[in-house]
Amino acid sequence: VKILICTGTGGLASGAASVQAAFEEEFEKKGVAAKVGSACEVNGTGCRGLCANDVLVDVCLPGKDAVTYDFVTPELVPQIVDEHVIGSEPVAKKVAGKYYHEFLDKQKRVVFSRCGTIDAESLDQFLETGGFNGVKKAVKMTQDEVIEEVKKSGLRGRGGGGFPTGMKWSFAKGSPGNHKYLICNADEGDPGAFMDRSILEGDPYGLIEGMMIAAYAIGCKFAYVYVRAEYPLAIKRLQMAIDTCYEKGYLGEKNILGLQMPLDMRIKAGAGAFVCGEETALMASIEGQRGMSRPRPPFPAVRGLWGKPTNINNVETYANVSYIFYNGADWYSSIGTEGTKGTKIFALTGKVKHTGLVEVPAGITMKEVIYDVCGGILNNRKFKAVQAGGPSGGCLPAEAIEAEVDYDSLIKAGAMMGSGGLVVMDETTCMVDIARFFLNFTRVESCGKCIPCRIGLKIMLEILERITQGKGQEGDIELLQDMAYDIKKSSLCGLGQTAPNPVLSTIRYFRDEYETHIKEGE
Ligand code: SF4
Repeated sequence: VKILICTGTGGLASGAASVQAAFEEEFEKKGVAAKVGSACEVNGTGCRGLCANDVLVDVCLPGKDAVTYDFVTPELVPQIVDEHVIGSEPVAKKVAGKYYHEFLDKQKRVVFSRCGTIDAESLDQFLETGGFNGVKKAVKMTQDEVIEEVKKSGLRGRGGGGFPTGMKWSFAKGSPGNHKYLICNADEGDPGAFMDRSILEGDPYGLIEGMMIAAYAIGCKFAYVYVRAEYPLAIKRLQMAIDTCYEKGYLGEKNILGLQMPLDMRIKAGAGAFVCGEETALMASIEGQRGMSRPRPPFPAVRGLWGKPTNINNVETYANVSYIFYNGADWYSSIGTEGTKGTKIFALTGKVKHTGLVEVPAGITMKEVIYDVCGGILNNRKFKAVQAGGPSGGCLPAEAIEAEVDYDSLIKAGAMMGSGGLVVMDETTCMVDIARFFLNFTRVESCGKCIPCRIGLKIMLEILERITQGKGQEGDIELLQDMAYDIKKSSLCGLGQTAPNPVLSTIRYFRDEYETHIKEGE
């Protein structure tokens, strides 16, 4: 008998620790193992996505399908144990049932396949699910062959840019010098996005494996994972996994996996600056300097951390790599669309029934994600728009809901994939106010190094504020557009270059709301 309890941040915040303790106590008290004639394991797992319904618990009886319960409290545990574990009859009214299956049916859980199914802290369970088989396969290939395999898979960076991963690796490998760094960007700062946190909490060994493959392909001896300090559980689980890997010889001098050279890995905790998700600011932060961007070129692959060639990918990208090597590039590239291969994880928040994390094949439509996977709009209101791609993304209106979720289609529609945040809005949302909210976020997070971003965003925000306060003037919309284009063109880094996007996309699709505010003075 296996009990799987979601003990990601969402689960723990909803009381998963006491639910876990209640199961352990109940099993002990009632001598359940003897009654059911088999061992009873209670495992804390990573997040399985449906965070709004935590605490989620799976009861897995031998020879039967797992049954999922949601909103489990310690008080419900004795009934589940009596009726389901001992009596083999699920507690019907409490089973998550049909909608839980609808939530999962259109998903394709590749990167998330271990999240929610194994004990995230157990190396043994990771190994039982094929863990490290990817890196074992990679080290039998030459470095170039490994890079070719990643190129063949079509994997593109999941941090937002969508740059082809294999090509990025080849630049770092081709840079002269044998002192190179590998960095994992886990500074997930977009409001509403928490997919990287979930991978770190639910499958830390899977991330380490992806980084090992990259380190081998590029020729890196040192690796950093830059994690935002607001993720204490992710840091704790990753540190535990790194320590175990050192102890067992997977990392460090023993190098039992036979990497080209022993790999050292350490965590650097960020300090809460959104701009540190930008790669040059991130490297400055690791070096102990203030987290500020610098002009590129030189690109990190040529001159990165401490002046050495460096490869940076985000958590989801490295986590994908392990699966490419488990199953092969052909398998991976068979999922998704021509331009976007594999799956993408999205964090859904806002006015949607089932908020949380979903992993879907690229190419699925936005409508399928919102209605089929996440159950549609809360209180059966009308869908108005979805903000895709975080504060640097854009708002797509109802007419664009059939847009396919891939890099190119989203850009064409006026948004971007970004790291995967989707904020859903209903008919009651004011789109000018949404633009103001996101612009205020990027203005506060601007590092202030260059004028267009530091001053320009401030002025744009002032204009938006006066419009939402009913003090807008004729010409404000055109002024916002002109400033937005200038800021995008002249800012130093990605933050400033993309910060005006929510304003531009809301003007493009909801211009009438701006005009009404200005005309009617409200
Ligand atoms: Fe800093 Fe903004 Fe300039 Fe980037 S664009 S360097 S965040 S001021």
